[in-house]
Order: sequence, then C-alpha cells, then structure tokens
Amino acid sequence: MKPYRELSKEELLALQEELQAEYDAEKAKGLKLDISRGKPGKEQLDLSMPMMDVLNGETVLNAENGTDVRNYGVLDGIPEAKELMAGMVGAKPSQMIVLGNSSLNIMYDCVARAELFGIMGSTPWSQLDKVKFLCPVPGYDRHFGVTEQFGIEMINVPMTEDGPDMDVVEDYVNNDPSVKGIWCVPMFSNPGGVVYSDETVKRFANLKPAAKDFRIFWDNAYGIHYLYDRPESEQPHILNILEECEKAGNPDMVYEFCSTSKITFPGAGVAAMASSEANVADTKAKLQWQTIGPDKINQLRHVRYFKDINGMKEYMKKHAEIIRPKFEAVLETLEKKLGELEIASWSKPVGGYFISFNAQKGCAKAIVAKCKEAGLVLTGAGAAYPYGNDPEDSNIRIAPTLPSTEELSIATALFVTCTKLVTVEKLLA
Ligand code: PLP
Repeated sequence: MKPYRELSKEELLALQEELQAEYDAEKAKGLKLDISRGKPGKEQLDLSMPMMDVLNGETVLNAENGTDVRNYGVLDGIPEAKELMAGMVGAKPSQMIVLGNSSLNIMYDCVARAELFGIMGSTPWSQLDKVKFLCPVPGYDRHFGVTEQFGIEMINVPMTEDGPDMDVVEDYVNNDPSVKGIWCVPMFSNPGGVVYSDETVKRFANLKPAAKDFRIFWDNAYGIHYLYDRPESEQPHILNILEECEKAGNPDMVYEFCSTSKITFPGAGVAAMASSEANVADTKAKLQWQTIGPDKINQLRHVRYFKDINGMKEYMKKHAEIIRPKFEAVLETLEKKLGELEIASWSKPVGGYFISFNAQKGCAKAIVAKCKEAGLVLTGAGAAYPYGNDPEDSNIRIAPTLPSTEELSIATALFVTCTKLVTVEKLLA
C-alpha cells in the first residue's frame, strides 16, 4: 500500500467507501471495549493475592523497631517500609516519607501545602498574583488536573526522545520567578514511554531557579516497570535526581514520588515521597496536623511479601510476562496496518503502561469519537495536555494493559480502521 498522501482523489474516494463498509461492519457487532486507562489486568492483580495472607491472626504485628503497626503513630512510615520504598528510587531511608495508598494524593498535598503555607517559609503560592508550572507534553492528565484545580497557569514544554526540551525548561525556570514547579515522569513517561537521558537529569539538577521555592515534581511512577527481562546493566536507567541535585548544590529542589500501585494493587498499595532531609522536615511539620499516621499494616504486609527491593524487582518480571504480549500485539498491528501509510507515528515503549500515538494533525478528536461510536473507549483526545487542549489535535494515548489480548486485537483493529477512515476524510476535505 502506498502512503495516503500519494493517492489520487479517485483512489481516496474508493478507499473511503471500503473503510466505511469495514467500519459499519465493526460497529454492528455492538462491541464494548476500553483501552482508556492504565490499569493492571485481572491476571496481574491475581499475582498479588498471596500478599493478603502474609499477615494473619498469628502474625507478629510489630515493625522492626518494635512499633505495633495496628496502633496509631509513626507519621512517616515504618523503617522497613522506608527501606523498601527508598530502594525503588535509590534514596536513603532518611529521605523517605512513606504514606498511604496513592502517590498522586501525596503530590496533590505537596501542591496544596505550598499554596496554603508556602515551602520552607516562602510566601504561600495562594498569596501570589501568578503561579506557573511547566508541563512537558504529552504528559499525565491527572498531574495537569491538580495544577488546574489550584488555578496554576500551565505552560507546555515539548518532549524530545531525551525528556523535556531543556532549553525551554532552563529559560523559564532560570528567569521567571513565578515558575514554581514542573511535572516530570522521568522513566517510561506517561504516555510517551520516554526515559530521561543522563544529560537531561544533570541539566535538571543544575537549574538555577529564579524562585527559591521552585520544585521539580519527579513522579517516578514507572521506575521498575520494565517490559523486557534484561540484565540490569542493559535496562534503560535514569540518574538519581536526588544525588545529582545534591552534587549541584541544589539539594532541596526536588520532590520525588513513587508507589506500588502498579506493582500490587492500585488504590490499595503503598506510596511514598523522597526528598532532602530539609524538605522532609518541612513536609512533616505540616503533615503532623493532617494525619496521626498512615496504614502501617499495609506497609508491613508489603515489606513481608517482597522482603526487599530485589524481591520486588524479581516480582515485576511476572508482570512484564503478562503485559509484554499485550503491548506487542498492539504494536505489531499498528506496524502491519499503518506502517507504510505514513499517516501516523507511535512510541515503541520498553516499559511503563502506555503507547503514545500521533495521528495526522486535526484527526485525534475525530478518531476517538468514531471509536466511541463503535463501542471502543479511548482516553479523550487532548487529555495528555494541560486544559485538555492538544494544539495539534493529534495525540491519542493507548493503554493496553487492562483488556485481554483477544479484546485488544479487536480494539486495535477497530482503532486502525477509524484512524484510516478519519485520515482519508481529512485528505478529501
Ligand atoms: N503518576 C503517574 C505518572 C501515573 O501514570 C499514575 C497512574 O496512572 C499515577 C501517578 C497514580 O499513582 P498512584 O496510584 O500512586 O496515585
């Protein structure tokens, strides 16, 4: 098949008719499919069920420092949970605050505390005329939702294959004191699957922010979520931002986040924040009035189940075995059916939870709408951009983990038909 742009009007019209018939036949099947959210599939959740049995009526419910985990207290998590979660991000246990079931919740609270109380004695953001955040795009819709809710102005920063465009980041952060933060997913970014290069991490660490309360929101949500089982030295990696910031004389510039949501149970895992000891102290001083302490029983359950970070990394290989074929099924279909047409491009991730698909400009909304009409739910077009506004209307996020491989192949085939049909319609318009 030739690239679409080389087709004559007659060829395009014939193709449109053929694709419309294909689409109508798919639609008549009354499908109900959903590839919109990055949720683990049932088989992945089943993997973690034995964790429910590691604590029972007979179990010693004391943490290693003697704390009875069933009772109140321990604001920042039990020591062994700090150790485990520190291993996920390469931090020191003293840099950890291990909390409840959601890292997004911790991020929200960091923004909320900065708004209400200020960071380390700085003016609360809510008292400033203007607060801005940099948003590498495409990015995680819920990050943008947090900053939008607080009325923070969001500025798009283009992503490259090495991470955010650092010329743009440096220009804003180093010159504009109203820029107070940036959202980053440094490893297998949502949705592009991008792994920030060493140079990018170093440039982050060496920023010279115009605002002293500028913070990098380093959401390391997919730090050990590899799709392929390779020796550690051959796996994609990121530099340790906490260490790099320390070396650069900017120890307090980063808040890092992680959780076990896509390791054990989303919504019932353990989440943590890692930062400099000064940031940890600043955070705890405010957190102490918000809660008496997190769910330490769940923390202990996780530690007893995984034993240590190596146990957790080993376990992630089982997840990879389940989800890798799903990613490969989607990628193979896209390559086979769209590869030669030159009407779209897409990421080929080796980790994380998403495939980022770029249709021709001005086609994404129409593709998502057509899929929906035929029973396939995709993430809303534009969701990966602040204010839900993709200026090119081209990006669509595909989340392959939740459906079965069989459902996924039906969904991908329908998605391909819709992409072709919308593109042909656009070329004919
Ligand atoms: N951060 C990123 C980048 C995500 O993609 C997600 C979920 O999809 C989350 C955070 C949510 O994490 P949690 O369940 O720990 O709140």
